[in-house]
Amino acid sequence: MRSSLRFDVITLFAPIFSAISEQGVTGRAHAQGRWQVNTWNPRDFTHDVHRTVDDRPYGGGPGMVMRVEPLEKAVLAVQAQRQAGTDAEPAPVILLSPQGQRFDQAQAQALAAGPGAIMVCGRYEGIDQRFIDRWVTQEVSLGDFVLSGGEIAALAMMDAAVRLLPGVLNDDESAVQDSFNDELSGLLDCPHYTRPEVYDGQAVPDILLSGHHANIVRWRRKQSLEATWRKRPDLIETARGKGWLSRDDEKFLSDLQGNDKR
Ligand code: SAH
Repeated sequence: MRSSLRFDVITLFAPIFSAISEQGVTGRAHAQGRWQVNTWNPRDFTHDVHRTVDDRPYGGGPGMVMRVEPLEKAVLAVQAQRQAGTDAEPAPVILLSPQGQRFDQAQAQALAAGPGAIMVCGRYEGIDQRFIDRWVTQEVSLGDFVLSGGEIAALAMMDAAVRLLPGVLNDDESAVQDSFNDELSGLLDCPHYTRPEVYDGQAVPDILLSGHHANIVRWRRKQSLEATWRKRPDLIETARGKGWLSRDDEKFLSDLQGNDKR
């Protein structure tokens, strides 16, 4: 099968990426050639004996800053190799950064549907701004906290995209039924149960043992609505705005609200 989803990661810590290329469902898909990840070490694009990739910040202050030149040479090498390949669709240059747009499921879907990305992982205090101005097309953040490097954020993005590729998950772990997906109206997933039927006095909800498929579907929908209403009311508003909530959904939600006031 042709693998068009290709990630080129510019990083000082290549071994971190085996966490998804060798483990779990993403590892299986990687072994099958469904996607690829190549790492590029900025040190390989230096000329001094010490292979220096960082230097002290102008203006003073703590920490070190990643130099422009090794990063720029790495991007040029990646682009030359990507263009030489059969799949010459240009890829975005994504900088993992706490200042970026926060990553979400919609971005994971867009990433999975595209040619992949060139991902730049910062370290230390960050990267010389001139590299960002010249090369970066998109800054993406994992959330409002500061990591010690972009690698974990890049891993998270790739994992979220790869599991959406058709056939990467087995049918029974299908991604469309997960939280945030369109099929679930962007809501949170319902609770799940497995054997035993009773654990330490706690029973599985009867309906799940009833074998009545339509009722189970309705129950799950209500559970999703309730979980979302309680934990992430903003997602209810988004779904409403998109016209994704049915009359039954709205009725259930207004009953919930009524019960809550009592
Ligand atoms: N001085 C910077 C943070 C540097 S942290 C600032 O305050 O904005 C070092 C590197 O970790 C960053 O260059 C970035 O690549 C990565 N990083 C840190 N937090 C991140 C986050 N929330 N999302 C994505 N990448 C992050």
